[in-house]
Amino acid sequence: MNQPASELPLAWLLGRESYQRVCVRFWLMTSSVYAVMLVLLGYAQTLGFISVRDSELFRWVSLSGLAFFYLCLRSGWSKRLVDRAMTAQQMMFAIVVLAGAYVAAPALRGGLVIVVPLVLTFGGFTLPPRRCRQMGVFAVAVQAIAMALSLASGGQGQGGALEIMVFVVCAVVFTMSADMAGRLSAMREQLRLQKRDLRLAMERNDQLARHDELTQLPNRRHALEMMEYEGKRAQRDRVPPCICMMDIDHFKQINDTHGHAAGDAVLRLLASHSVPALRAPDILARWGGEEFILIMPETTLEIAAMVVERLRSALANAHIWKDRPELKVTFSAGIAAMLPSESIQDTVARADAALYRAKEAGRNRTEQA
Ligand code: GH3
Ligand code: MG
Ligand code: MG
Repeated sequence: MNQPASELPLAWLLGRESYQRVCVRFWLMTSSVYAVMLVLLGYAQTLGFISVRDSELFRWVSLSGLAFFYLCLRSGWSKRLVDRAMTAQQMMFAIVVLAGAYVAAPALRGGLVIVVPLVLTFGGFTLPPRRCRQMGVFAVAVQAIAMALSLASGGQGQGGALEIMVFVVCAVVFTMSADMAGRLSAMREQLRLQKRDLRLAMERNDQLARHDELTQLPNRRHALEMMEYEGKRAQRDRVPPCICMMDIDHFKQINDTHGHAAGDAVLRLLASHSVPALRAPDILARWGGEEFILIMPETTLEIAAMVVERLRSALANAHIWKDRPELKVTFSAGIAAMLPSESIQDTVARADAALYRAKEAGRNRTEQA
C-alpha cells in the first residue's frame, strides 16, 4: 500500500502478486536473450547473412510473441492455465523461432542451435519431469523439420551428410539437456515434498510439545506461555484477566475404585466436555495430574465465577457420568483476578490458595481470592 515512489514502475511492470512477479521476471530473463539475438540478427543483416525481409519477419514475430506472453502473464490471464508461467508455450515458441532463423540464415546456424539447450533448461524450473523430456522430443522434431526444409531449399551447399551429422549432435545434445532439466525438476519436486514433510513434522512436534497427550488440552508449558502473554497484555491494555485453578475432587478414589484407565477416561472426558462450555477466548489447560487451569482474558471476577459455574453444570449434566451413575465427578475451584500491582504468577498463587479453601470448605465449590 505505502510503496516507495521509486518502486512503483517496477510494481507496475512485474505486478503485485508474488507468483506473477516470478513469472514476469522469468519472462524478462528470456526477453534479454531475445534482445541479444535480435541485435545480432540486425548486425548479420548489415553483413548480408540474412535478407532484410527475413530479418524484419523475425523481429516482428519475436517481439509480437514477447508482447503476447507478457500480456498473458501480467494481466493474470495465465492463472487459468495449469502451467501459470506459460513455460511450455514460451519454450515451444522460442524453439520454433530459432528453427525458422536456422532455415533463413544458414551462416548463423552454429550460433542458433546452441541457444536451444538454454531454452530447454528453463523447463526444469516450472515443468514436471515428463513435460521437460517431451520438450526435448519437440525440439529434436522441430530441428529435423528445419534441417529437412533447408536441405530441400538447397541453400546449404555442404550436402546432406554434414546436415545429418549436425542433426545427430543436435538430437543428442537436445535430448540430454531436456533430460537434465527433467532431473532438475524432479529434484525441485523432491525438495518441495521434503520441505512440506519437515513443516508437518515441526507442526506435529510443536503440537506435542505444547499439548497434553491424554486430554489434548494445552499443557503446563503452553499455559505458562499464554499466561505470560495475557499478563503483559493486561499491563499494556489495563484489562486484567482472571485465573481459575480447578482440581477434581477425590480423584484418587476414582482411580482406586474403578482403575487407572477409568481415571484416565475421566480426565479425557472432563476436557472434551469442558471446552464447548467455554467462551472463545478462554483457555483451559492441564496444569498437572487432575489439576486444570482456566485463563479468562479481560474478565471480571463476577463473570469468571459465572463461567466456572456454567462449566460445573455442564459437567454435572454431561452424559458421561450418567453412563456410570456410581461415578461422581466434581471439582473444586479457586478464582483470582489479576491485580494491577501483581505479576500473573502472583495471581496463580492466589487462585491456588482459594482452591485450597474450596477443598477445606467441603469441595465441589468455587472460592474467590
Ligand atoms: P482432593 O479432593 O483433595 O483433590 O483429593 P484427590 O484424591 O483428588 O487428590 P490426590 O492429590 O490425593 O490424588 C490425586 C490422584 O490423581 C493421585 C494420582 O495418582 C492421580 N493422577 C494424577 N495424574 C493422573 C493421570 O494422568 N491419570 C490417572 N488415572 N490418575 C492420575
Ligand atoms: Mg490435586
Ligand atoms: Mg483432586
